[in-house]
Parts: sequence; C-alpha cells; structure tokens
Amino acid sequence: DQARNPDYLAGLNPEQREAVETTDGPVLVLAGAGTGKTRVLTTRIAHILATGRAFPSQILAVTFTNKAAREMKERIGLLVGGAVEGMPWLGTFHSIGVKLLRRHAELVGLNSDFTILDTDDVVRLIKQLIQAEGIDDKRWPAKQFAATIDGWKNKALDPSQIPEGDARAFANGKGRELYAAYQNRLKSLNACDFGDLLLHPIRMFRMNPDVLKDYHQKFRYILVDEYQDTNTAQYMWLRLLAQRPQGIPQNVCCVGDDDQSIYGWRGAEVDNILRFEKDFPGAKVIKLERNYRSTEHILGAAGHLIAHNEGRLGKTLFTDRREPDDEKVVVHAAWDSEEEARAVGEVIEQLQRGDGDGKKHNLNDMAILVRASFQMREFEDRFVTLGLNYRVVGGPRFYERLEIRDAMAYFRLVCQPADDLAFERIVNTPKRGLGDTTIRTLHDYARARDIPMLTAAGNLIETDELKPKARKALFDVIQMFRRWQELLETTPHTELAEQILEESGYTDMWKNDKSAEAPGRLENLKELIRSMEAFESMRGFLEHVSLVMDAEQNEDMDAVSIMTLHSAKGLEFDTVFLPGWEEGLFPHQRALDEGGRSGLEEERRLAYVGITRAKRRCHIWFVSNRRIHGLWQSTMPSRFLDELPVTHVEVAQTEQSYGGYGRGGYGQSRFDKAEPFQNSYSTPGWKRAQQNKTDATRDNWGSRSGHAVERIGYGESGPRARTIDGE
Ligand code: ATP
Ligand code: MG
Repeated sequence: DQARNPDYLAGLNPEQREAVETTDGPVLVLAGAGTGKTRVLTTRIAHILATGRAFPSQILAVTFTNKAAREMKERIGLLVGGAVEGMPWLGTFHSIGVKLLRRHAELVGLNSDFTILDTDDVVRLIKQLIQAEGIDDKRWPAKQFAATIDGWKNKALDPSQIPEGDARAFANGKGRELYAAYQNRLKSLNACDFGDLLLHPIRMFRMNPDVLKDYHQKFRYILVDEYQDTNTAQYMWLRLLAQRPQGIPQNVCCVGDDDQSIYGWRGAEVDNILRFEKDFPGAKVIKLERNYRSTEHILGAAGHLIAHNEGRLGKTLFTDRREPDDEKVVVHAAWDSEEEARAVGEVIEQLQRGDGDGKKHNLNDMAILVRASFQMREFEDRFVTLGLNYRVVGGPRFYERLEIRDAMAYFRLVCQPADDLAFERIVNTPKRGLGDTTIRTLHDYARARDIPMLTAAGNLIETDELKPKARKALFDVIQMFRRWQELLETTPHTELAEQILEESGYTDMWKNDKSAEAPGRLENLKELIRSMEAFESMRGFLEHVSLVMDAEQNEDMDAVSIMTLHSAKGLEFDTVFLPGWEEGLFPHQRALDEGGRSGLEEERRLAYVGITRAKRRCHIWFVSNRRIHGLWQSTMPSRFLDELPVTHVEVAQTEQSYGGYGRGGYGQSRFDKAEPFQNSYSTPGWKRAQQNKTDATRDNWGSRSGHAVERIGYGESGPRARTIDGE
C-alpha cells in the first residue's frame, strides 16, 4: 500500500489530496489563507517526481520571491527523501525570464550576455532621451516616465499598443515615441529592464512558434503560487507556455486567494483568477476550506474584517484549532509610537521569559508587521536598548536606508568635520555640479597634506586650481557647514537637523522626485528628525545610531522579524504584532485620497494578510498621537478596528499590559476602566489618556556615554530600488 499511499500524501485532507493527485489537466486551487495552498504545490511537485511523471528539469514552478523558491526546493527534498537534483525552473517570474532570455537572446536582437539595468540606470537613460528630444526634463521628469513605462510593461504593451490617451499624456504627445526610442536604445546597449525579462520571452515565443513548441514538450508540469498577484504580462507569459495545441496535455496548476491580492498598485490583476477558467476550459477548480494555521479567534477576526470588502469571490474557512486557552486577538492603545514600541517590546519579553502560560517562546516565532517602513525605526531603537535581537526582512534596516544614510552623513560632518566618508557622500548630493574631477582634486590635495577633505575644500577655494563653477559650488557648501557648526552649540539639535536638511536642498531633492519611493523617503526623513528628540544632543544621537548599526544580524540567531505587510505574504508566525492601526497610516492616506473603493479594499486585504500570518497570538496596536511636522496631532483609530468582531477580540487593559501576564511597565494606568469593545476608540476614555501623558517613557534612553563608538561608513548595502524578487 506504500506505493499508493506514500508518506507525503498521508497528512493531506481529501481536497488537498485531490489537488496533488490531479496531475493531468488544468487545476485552479482557490482558497483562503493558511489552507495549505503552498503545501499542496510543494507536495504536488514531490508527487510528480516520486511517481516518475517528470524529471526535475521538466517542471516549471513559479513562486513570488526567491526566498520562497529556496524554501520550496528544501521542502521538496524532505518530502521525496533525499536531495532533489536541480529544479532549474523553480523561481520567480523574473528569474525564470532571465534564464529563458539568456538562452534565446538572439531571437529578440540581444546577445546572451545582455545586462539587466536597475532602476537608476533606467532613469538615467530615459533622462538622456528626454533631453535629446529637447523636452524639458524638469517639467517631464525621467523618473515619472520610467514608472509609466513600467506600468505599460506590466500590461504587456509595446509602444505600438499603448492607448492613444496614455501616449499623449507625457510630454505633449511624445510618450509613444520616447518609449520606442527607449526600447531601441536598450537594444543598442545590449541591455534590458525588469519588464523586458517577461516581455522579450513573450515576443520571442510569439515570433518563434517552434521554440515555444519545444517548451511545450519540455515543461510537462507548470505550477504557480500566489496566483492572485500576477499581472497581465505574467499571465500572458504563463498562458503562452501553458496553453497547448490539441493532444499535448495542459498540466497547469495555479493556487491563490483573491482576498490576499495586495499588489494591485503594481499592476496585479485579480481578474486573472476569473480568466483562468475561461482560458483553460475544463479546469478543475478545487476549494480548500480548512485552515491549518490559526486559532479560531484569529480566523474569526480576519474573516469578519475581510467580509467588509465587496468585490470578493467568497470562500468558506474554518479551523479545528480550538483549545480552551486560546487567546483572543488583543487590541492595545498607546499614547504614541514610542510607547507602542515599548509596549510591544514588553510583551515580547514576557513571552520570551514564559510569564503567564509558563512556556518560553522563541523570538524566531514572533514578527512585527508594519504598513510603512518608517514605522520600523521606533522598534529597532527600542530593541537595541533592550538588547533584543531582531532582523529586518525584505529590505534594509531603518538606518541603512539611502535617505537616512545621506541625512546622517550631513549630521556627522557637522559634528565631525574630519569625516571624509560623510563628506564624499553628500558633497554632491543633491547635485551641485561637483563632478568626479573636482572630488579627485580635493581628495589628492587632502591626502598630500594629510588634512580632512572639508578643510582641503576650504583651502582650495582660495586657489585657482578649480574651475570657477566648482569653486563657487564648493564655497557655498563650506559656508553652509560653517554656519551649521556654529549653530551646533546654540540651536536645539532637532531644529538644526531640520534646518540642515532644508538648507542643503536635500529635502527638496526628494520633494521634486517623482518616483514611487520618494514619498516614503520623505516620511523616513521626518521619522529620523523625530527620533532625535529622545537625545540631548546631535552627538548623543549619532552615538546611538552607531550602536544600533552595530547590532548583530545573522541568519541563525533567535530574533524577532520586522517587515512590511507586503513582504509577509505566504509566511506564518506563532505571534504577530500589528502596530499603527490608525486612519491615514492603515488604511494608508494614499489609499484614502484615491477615493473610491478599490484602494481601501486593497488596504483591507493587507490587514487580512497581516492577521492571518498569526498561528496563535495576534496583537494589534493603535496610538492616539503621532508627531507630524514637529506638532502632536491626535489620530483616529483605524476603521478596520471597528470591523473586528467582538467575539474574537478583546481590548487590552493598559494596567495589565498583556491579558493577566502581570503588571506592565507603562507606569500608571491611563484608562479608568476597560472599555466595552465596539465603541471604545471614539469615547473620551482615551482622550483622557492623552492628557495624562507623562515623560516616564523618555527616561530610559539616558545617555550612552562610555560607548565612544565611531564607525566608518554605514555598510555597503543601500536600499535596492527594486529586486528581481517580487519583493
Ligand atoms: P497563505 O495563503 O498564507 O499563503 P497557504 O494556503 O499557502 O497560506 P500553507 O502555508 O501551505 O497555506 O499552510 C499553512 C500551514 O498549515 C503550514 O504550516 C502547513 O504546514 C500547514 N498545513 C497545511 N496542510 C496541512 C495538513 N493537511 N495537515 C497539517 N498541517 C497542514
Ligand atoms: Mg502560501
């Protein structure tokens, strides 16, 4: 019986098993979070291999991130017992696209050693083209057009196919022409951008049916995870490979959940789920309804919340995970984000110590999922103070972000004029017309005399070694720094910091930037200034940051994960913390500004993804105040809180920060009594709390003198503008 019932099938429920064993013909698994979709895909591959239906190289499997691909490979190995040799075609759409393109580059007019341009390269290239056309690139910024092209490519549109209105929207009707020029330029450079990694293979398959036919023969089985987040180009690519002429089986299996579609802003089309049944007639649609991940409370909370969305396919979801000591989802209120981080840290430490339930919990089993990356800063700072290990997943840590490192370089140079690395980093950021030659001259001059570059610059502008333009620019820079250095002793340091970023033109640089990342970077800069308030001086702050940056980060350590909700897709943790549930942050202001339903519904799906990452514990926070532009503003609790069901959710009593786990460290109670759930957020209860604000939360920073740590630079990794990963 072992042959018919191997170990890897034993644990599956009947529907999962059907999805695994229906190897022939198109299959769509449409199911809610935690129902085992990913597990089904993995087991299906194991089954195909174990039964000798295909070799590893004959399976095409698409995951959303490279990390997910690695994990899937490992699991398959475990299931079939022994390492799987290869699986060369298991990866993201992009990584598989690169591979195809390297093999057939000549068919689309490239050499196989073509380069893949990153976002910066693309923008530079487009800027040249815009200028060459005699278009004012201030009025029509290259970044904006780069994003437009990217959008077209997500929809698989060639220059000839873009809608007339779209084409006219940029540079008074030059959109189409510029797009075509851009593609030509790429070709002559033997280069392509991210979008081309999908579009070139599509083109190549269309123009070369014989090549496509080879792949139809080759890929006996095709599988796609997180199918709800595929965009049009990805879908076309998939359809080309999966739709076969009569007689060749269409063994394609896609798994997804319409309620977890969270990349609409990047062109994902949830309608691809509906198209599947049309494009693959006779597809078997399998629903999985049993959730294996979460307790009934967590599932109940998530299910009730997502029911507020209108555009849904609708699914049933239940769990058998029900135990008497299951905890409800807990909603906490905090005064501000500093207290929020402090309170989250406390719960983490309580879990770690095993207070309350007597079990000691690993940090690896806990995650903090934020809506916007600037929220990470407060947690990172707090955890360093506590000596609590953490890792930031799917992006750089707060202080490693490009804009933060730039800003810090300004501050460092004001405090430590000999910091040449800081000088080189910002002397021409924003652009001041100081080119490489000038910098080299400065460098040589400083080296020869063994003096700091800032001093060298001061000397050089007195000579005529520099071109007049560079000399003038340098003169201005030096003047600025002299002024700031004088202010260092007299002006409050947060004010000075703001002044530095304003006067240097750094803030404006991002304000004028039309890229999608720019608003986030401005948010981060504000957060940086805010974070300085806890310190006595700019120097004290710089010292603190070097300590944060020193905090260890390695794969093996037991650590809390911090990441955005977007990068948490597909993952699961015992305990999940969801901070910042306030109107304007979550749902995000940009979604609210859009008006209409779709932006808001995508935010709600994101909330659903967040809650359903939790296996046993889910803690949600909102704060009553955020500091915006240096002013305290009271915030409204997120509407999503009101959409949670009373039966599965409780409001934490601040006096006991964590359901009976002992008295928390908030100082005195801010709430007179526990409020009944539904209306508690708008009652005066927590307005009163605002007035009770004490400075207790500030004490604990102290000064960290004794650690005269000076670090050189802040590591190499700037934020990747975009990766081949879906992240
Ligand atoms: P998401 O929508 O979040 O991506 P998913 O549907 O892909 O979730 P999985 O991650 O595959 O769900 O499974 C969720 C959890 O349930 C995993 O820990 C998985 O190992 C477990 N699980 C799935 N099926 C079973 C089963 N039949 N028996 C026991 N555990 C299972
Ligand atoms: Mg999954």
